[in-house]
Amino acid sequence: MAPQLPPSGVPVTPDRAGARLSLEGVGRRYGDRWVLKDLDLEVEPGSFVSFLGPSGAGKSTLLRIVAGLEQPSSGTARLHGSGPRPPMARMMFQEDRLLPWRSAEDNVLLGVRGRREEARALLDAVGLADRGDAWPSALSGGQRQRVALARALLHHPELLLLDEPFGALDAITRIAMQRLLERMWLDQPRTVLLVTHDVEEALVLSDRVLVLADGSVGRDLSIDLPRGDRRGHPRLVSWKEELLSDLVEPASAAPGAA
Ligand code: ADP
Repeated sequence: MAPQLPPSGVPVTPDRAGARLSLEGVGRRYGDRWVLKDLDLEVEPGSFVSFLGPSGAGKSTLLRIVAGLEQPSSGTARLHGSGPRPPMARMMFQEDRLLPWRSAEDNVLLGVRGRREEARALLDAVGLADRGDAWPSALSGGQRQRVALARALLHHPELLLLDEPFGALDAITRIAMQRLLERMWLDQPRTVLLVTHDVEEALVLSDRVLVLADGSVGRDLSIDLPRGDRRGHPRLVSWKEELLSDLVEPASAAPGAA
């Protein structure tokens, strides 16, 4: 049976609303260096949360811990789904990680059997209805990331983990991808954690923006602006300035540091 499609074309799973995330005292140590320290965090199901922070602040490490790809050195990271099964989490990276010898459609179907209709609906939803047969090498960077997003969504993740997914794209393609992601998230609420270096991207897309500093959450902002026309909103502009000055000169800087 063909999947039921909302306006964005993303196949719907009405029984899932997103995973709840609970981190308690999470720490991660590499050698004798603690990258994350005693981090407590609750993320509501269906919310869109972004992480900012200087390079090396531990953002990707945190995402890998949440994905279960890495174990914390201390504390616990728990995901609670809406159903009896553990929630499904999928990760998307700055590199598209498509297999070059598989078509776009077969990349969406990687590791999955017999859901070609759904894969096509997703390619349609990300604006690639006519590129399913294309090899990754024939697609632009933005198109390849669309395929990667479709591949992640095919699994109906209750948690989508995005590690700088648009970091390698040009400014215009990046805005188009942000709009696509937001539209898909609004159609099918799921919990999204986004790591980005782009302060505006975080503010435009998120319900909540967290700044990681010194291995912990240095700042926790609720972004209660209406969606759709946030760019250029006076409050967004002032948050952006504040966050940029935090990031350029972190509050955690050692007293007396040059
Ligand atoms: P961010 O995503 O904020 O840039 P990361 O989470 O990638 O930061 O890395 C945080 C710190 O942990 C960095 O100093 C990095 O070099 C270190 N690190 C990350 N993974 C490993 C690893 N597997 N082994 C040793 N050090 C690591």
